[in-house]
Amino acid sequence: MPFSFEIFPPRNNDAQVALNETIRRLAETNPEFISVTYGASGSSRDASFDTLRYVHNHTDVTALAHLTTIGQNKQHLTGLINEWMDAGINDFLALRGDPPLGQFEADIDTSNLMPSAELVRLIAAQREARGGEGRIAVAAYPNGHPRSVSRERDIAMLVEKQDAGADFAITQLFFEADEYLGFVADAREAGLTIPVLPGLMPVSTAKQLRRIAELAGHEPPADLLRRLEQAGDTVAPEIGVEFVVSLARELLAGGAPSLHLYTFNRYESVIAVLQLLRLI
Ligand code: FAD
Repeated sequence: MPFSFEIFPPRNNDAQVALNETIRRLAETNPEFISVTYGASGSSRDASFDTLRYVHNHTDVTALAHLTTIGQNKQHLTGLINEWMDAGINDFLALRGDPPLGQFEADIDTSNLMPSAELVRLIAAQREARGGEGRIAVAAYPNGHPRSVSRERDIAMLVEKQDAGADFAITQLFFEADEYLGFVADAREAGLTIPVLPGLMPVSTAKQLRRIAELAGHEPPADLLRRLEQAGDTVAPEIGVEFVVSLARELLAGGAPSLHLYTFNRYESVIAVLQLLRLI
């Protein structure tokens, strides 16, 4: 059963040293790919590029680059895709992206914002022009995107991204197997055929859980939150690991093709999850 990881670029030198060790440990498990976020939490494009190159040059694992269209025009994106392809980065997660921290979406000029399906087409065109290596991923939202007008519209946009050339999708975090399984079943009925990788994260504090629940767009699971709160300020990785293992078992039994693990730049918990699932 394949699996993959997400990391984010380090914020300083100490974090860089720790991340290099994390990358080394993650690579030893032989994942399908390691993806690197882009522009999230204010990180720079150079920081993403450096991290991607580190994965590409120091491990045998495919480095998959998140890329966002927000605030960038087609010419700039074409240059960047080619620069990264020149460095051997051929796999992308094509995203629209979010406005910079503290800026409301309404403040951003969205009139000429490139939709993520167009970024998929742009990457596919560069790939073809250069000889056709690499895969293109897109994002999916089992609980709806915050801007979602309806589930039908969400699914239609996902099918549009598939039709533009996406090879697979990765989901936003969620907490119940039925949220993923129901979404995929509905999407299949609407014509989605590409694999949908469930995105999972073993949390270790109540604060972390509240934050990712906000991202996932719904309340954190009450039982998990209670157990993490009881642990107080202590980091309690085993609670989050146990939760994700049980969720992953249900997902795999329900037909999930793979697992995508959000690492929060730590290797211990995600490796524990894979060991308990006997995937490594
Ligand atoms: P789209 O696929 O274009 O749209 C997402 C949803 O928005 C649609 O399903 C729909 O509900 C709604 N929507 C969009 N346009 C319309 C419209 N015209 N009419 C009606 N509804 C519309 N962000 C970063 O900045 N950096 C990252 O590295 C990053 N990594 C991510 C990784 C994953 C796996 C996921 C799930 C998200 C990630 N994000 C990242 C967040 C993402 O950029 C935001 O969620 C962004 O708001 C949407 O991007 P998208 O490509 O999914 O958008």
